Amino acid sequence: MEKLILFLSLFLLASCSADGSANGNAVDSGSADSSADSKQEPKVAFNADSCYKFMQKQVDFGYRIPSTKEHKECGKYLVSTLERFADTVITQDVTLKAYNGTKLESRNIIASWNPESKNRIILCAHWDTRPFCDEDPKAENHKKPVLGANDGASGVGVLLELARQFSIKEPNVAVDIILFDSEDYGHNDYHNSYCLGSQHWALNPHVPRYNARFGILLDMVGGKGARFAKDLISSFYANDVLEDVWKTAETLGYSSLFVNEEGGSIIDDHYYVNKMIGIPCIDILDYTNDEGFPSTWHTVNDTMENIDKEVLKAVGNVLITYIYNLK
Ligand SMILES: [Zn+2]
Repeated sequence: MEKLILFLSLFLLASCSADGSANGNAVDSGSADSSADSKQEPKVAFNADSCYKFMQKQVDFGYRIPSTKEHKECGKYLVSTLERFADTVITQDVTLKAYNGTKLESRNIIASWNPESKNRIILCAHWDTRPFCDEDPKAENHKKPVLGANDGASGVGVLLELARQFSIKEPNVAVDIILFDSEDYGHNDYHNSYCLGSQHWALNPHVPRYNARFGILLDMVGGKGARFAKDLISSFYANDVLEDVWKTAETLGYSSLFVNEEGGSIIDDHYYVNKMIGIPCIDILDYTNDEGFPSTWHTVNDTMENIDKEVLKAVGNVLITYIYNLK
């Protein structure tokens, strides 16, 4: 992703505000049972160990750089996993062009629950990994690829675990999980060179006249010491959703993770979902103004050792609580 330098002109604002907000009541956490009137209702509970395994599996494929065998194999795994949990899975295979002319064989993956419903939301993350560790403190690492335990696998891991929960008990709202490809092959000198998969999807949604109430993007949601500030693109386009999600986090005791601070203007996949297809979309992203991106970001240290299951659990619990309380 890149930092947005020019600020957005107000007339671009698509102010379709999202209705339906979390009321802060936690969904049954699945711990110690329970009241007599629960009537064997299936229980949803975000399982951080399961999420971690979904991440490990992606990392085990190696670097998920578009046009490589490892990327292709991981893509197949993501499709087959989502097919176990979702009602439908649609893939968009397309060759995109990077800023330097490299052809990127890319695949957006869209898993849907209740695909006919108009009352739907998007949960999304990017699944590709960056070919260069160009933020690494050591220059000799700059041409090495990023393993992307956090930057790639964490958002997808959380979404796969949510998908597993949706297969146990469907939420009241219909859901599309969208795994965008080719997010991280960009260069800061080239505007719009990141987020190629989401730009493609926004121009060519997987169903004609696609719409959703809002979207939530996850990017780097598993790092040790993570802090999520209120990203300015998110507050500009989708403030109601942003506030509701942060309020849900506060109710669950996660205010030190979902901090009540203004974040950056980060061009991530949510920017194109907002700007190009007009669906309000927020970004849960490890970025604060004082610390910037996490220290492992675009370095050789973006590995599973630097993932914190407690962070994954917090993000998962916030999302589960928020989503299952939507009407
Ligand atoms: Zn990245």
